[in-house]
This record gives sequence, C-alpha cells and structure tokens, in this order.
Amino acid sequence: MSDTIAAIATGMNGSGIGIIRISGPCAIAITDKIFIPKSKNKSVATMQTYTACFGHIIYNDKMYDEAICLVMKGPHSYTAEDVVELDCHGSIIVLKQIFDLIIQLGARVAEPGEFTKRAFLNGRIDMSQAESVMDLIHSKNDMAASASLKQLTGGLTAKIADMREKLLYNIAYIESALDDPENYSLDDFSTSLYETVEKLLITVNNLIKSSTSGRIIKEGIRTVIVGRPNAGKSSVLNMLCGSDRAIVTDIEGTTRDTLEEVVNIDQISLNIVDTAGIRETNDVVERIGVDKAIDSISDADLILYIVDGTTGLDDNDFRIMEQIQGKKIITLINKNDLEMAVDKMLITSKISSEILEISAKNRVGLDELHALLKKMFFDDEISYNDEIYITNMRHKSLLYETRDSLNAVLTSIENRMGEDFFTIDLMAAYTSLGKIIGEELEDDLVNKIFAEFCMGK
Ligand code: GDP
Repeated sequence: MSDTIAAIATGMNGSGIGIIRISGPCAIAITDKIFIPKSKNKSVATMQTYTACFGHIIYNDKMYDEAICLVMKGPHSYTAEDVVELDCHGSIIVLKQIFDLIIQLGARVAEPGEFTKRAFLNGRIDMSQAESVMDLIHSKNDMAASASLKQLTGGLTAKIADMREKLLYNIAYIESALDDPENYSLDDFSTSLYETVEKLLITVNNLIKSSTSGRIIKEGIRTVIVGRPNAGKSSVLNMLCGSDRAIVTDIEGTTRDTLEEVVNIDQISLNIVDTAGIRETNDVVERIGVDKAIDSISDADLILYIVDGTTGLDDNDFRIMEQIQGKKIITLINKNDLEMAVDKMLITSKISSEILEISAKNRVGLDELHALLKKMFFDDEISYNDEIYITNMRHKSLLYETRDSLNAVLTSIENRMGEDFFTIDLMAAYTSLGKIIGEELEDDLVNKIFAEFCMGK
C-alpha cells in the first residue's frame, strides 16, 4: 500500500460538483503540484488537516477548473492515510482532465472499493463495517439505510466482539487448566461452559433469524400480483407505483429475465415481479389470471391476490387459490367503491390470507396495506434502530457455521468428552465469527469482497 491511489468519486453525469479523491503517501505532494490556493502564502503542503481551501487547478500554465481542496491527514482519514479531495465542477470532461493530471503525476487509478479496502487493511474499520458502506450506498429504502448505518457504526462488530471474547476466555481457561491443573480447576467447568454456550447460541440464532427481515429490508419483499383478468391487477400496480410516497424504478430481475418493479411504500420496498405480464393483460384477450406469474410464485415472499369484489369467485379464482396456497398472502378485494358481492368466508376456507378491501381506482386502502405489510414482515416493530439485522449472505453462512460449532460443544459436554474436544469446536466458532469482521479471512476473499464495490469508494 505504498502507492498513492486516485479516483473520481462522484457519478459521471454532469452534476453540480464532482469529487476527485486521492489517498496515499504522495496525495498531498501530487495535489500541491496542481492546486494553487487563492490566498497567497498558502499551499496544499502546508494546509492543516481537516481544512479546506479555495483555489485553482493549474498545471503547465493551463487552468483546468476552480476547486476546493480538502486535506485529511492520516491516520485520521477514511483510509487512515493522507487523503485529499478536490471538489471540482461536475463536468465529465474537466474531471477527466484533472484526473489524468493526477495519474501523470504519479498516482495510480484506484480499483473499485480500494479506499475502503485500505481503511480495512489499515485497521480503521472491520470487514462488516466495510461491507455496510456498500450496502448503505445501494440501500433502496429508509429501513435498509438505517440497518446499514447501524452496521457501519459498529453495531454488529460489538456483538461479534463480545461473543468472541467469551469464547476466547473459555478456550484459554481450558488450555491453562490442562497445562497447569494445580492452579486451574476444571471441576464444574463443563456446567458453566454449557450455560455460556447456550447463551451464545441464543444470540447467534437471533442474528440468523434477523436475516429474513434483513434480506427483505435490503432487497425488498419479492411480491407477485395474481388475480383473474379484470380483477384490477394493473390498477393495483398503478396505485402502488403512483402513490405520492412511492418511488418506482425498473430493474432487471436477478433470475429468469423477469422484470421487477421496485415500489417503496414509506420504509418498505416491494419488488413486484413479472409486472410486464400484468401490464400486458389489457391487450391480450384470452389471458388467464396467473399465466407467467405462476413461475414466480414459488420464490415470492408475498402474494397480492386481487379479487374482483363486485362478482362471485370464478374458476380462475379457485385455480389461483390452489396455486398460491401455503404462501404469505394478502387478498385485496378490489372495487369496494361499488357494491360488494364476494364471499370472504369462501376465500378463507381455501387459503390462509389477510384480507383487505380496497379501491385501486380511487387509491383507497394503501395505508391499511402498508400497516399490514409492517405487521406481517417486521412483527409490527419499527425497532430497526435498535436491532441489528443480518443483511449479508456471507455473514449469514458464517453464523450457521458458528451455530454448528457451538452445538457440537454442547454435544461433547453432554457426552462427557474431554475438555480438549471442547476447545476444537470453541475455536471453530471463534474463527467463523472472526471471518464476519474480517479476521482470519484469506486474501483472495478480501479482494473478492472489495471487487464488488463501486469506483471511488
Ligand atoms: P387486470 O386485468 O387485473 O389488470 O385489471 P385492470 O386493472 O385492468 O382493471 C380492470 C377493470 O376494472 C378496468 O376497467 C378498471 O378501470 C376497473 N377497476 C380497477 N380497479 C377498480 C376499482 O377500484 N373500482 C372500480 N369501480 N373499477 C376498477
């Protein structure tokens, strides 16, 4: 890490300002060659840390831009090295010109995530914090942002550190007792170890449990809208997308080329799958209600089953109910601005479902739907500020490993195995937890994690 890296850290889309970030031993010296402070007697080299200075980017008598230069000296910087940020105008051309100068003068183009990787390798943040930086940048809703921020500020780190400390104490105790039985007694030790491990398992299991909400927070609730033709599927979709507080984006589905539409209702994201199929229904006459959506039902977290409330259920409805049985379902009985004729009892006799009456056309029922989603997926708690959610698959599988090792310790104790057996599994749990925060991770894996970051971060 003796070289100096640089990147354009802001999006290349011609915005108001664009930031070039430089980190490493020559960050200040390189900037000093191209940045001329407006006030005389000043230079980048003599700037105090955490100060900003207005000036011009000039090299070989050519002026490139007006800019503000920000100096953050290591170790109190993002990377723990000397960092300089240049706030330039956000012109793509100007940013590229200045960036090229910086590279000419000896900096290297940073790899994706390399600034954060340096922060990690320099011990300023651990791996779970580094990963949360990316999660925060990509968060799709308020809840996801809060959960990432909680992890960034060390919420998960503290929990992991606490568990590892307990494991290490017990490992050390056993080893001391085996080495020095006169001074360390193992009488009754297995009873207290059993209790400690049981408590650790509760924490690990709670973290694993949180990963369901964690995934849903991070990625959104995978939602499939089903219903017979004319029940109001497109109208419901429009109601969801068109609500004032919803943000709608089209993203490529991660599987099977389905189109997903992400709708944010307050803090919750719904990833509505196969919306293309739904939107087509108006154009295609002979279209049964479920068609393409059937494929998506098995992966879905939630089925929104739309029923035309003005008529009785028909064969299509019965077929659909058969298909969606066993899933988490909200039945939306639509068109309640008109006279209702549908038999709710008949629905609940076929499927286990929450039922809401709505009018998609008049946009009535969105608040109730939102409240229901909160209740169904987040246990009615908005306690995500205090709770730590596991949102990362890597962390989740390491927690599974930890759980297996801890269970093995309990089994060894139950089977009255020797204490040295306990240490093997205690150590395995210690190692798995360590990998979450980036200790004991192989270099390849570290590189792979950071390679998924964006440029300039
Ligand atoms: P889809 O085939 O399931 O996608 O159904 P659409 O959303 O295209 O709706 C079918 C018809 O029902 C259209 O004529 C809509 O205007 C009408 N519709 C949808 N929602 C409501 C509602 O809440 N009230 C009333 N009165 N009509 C509705």
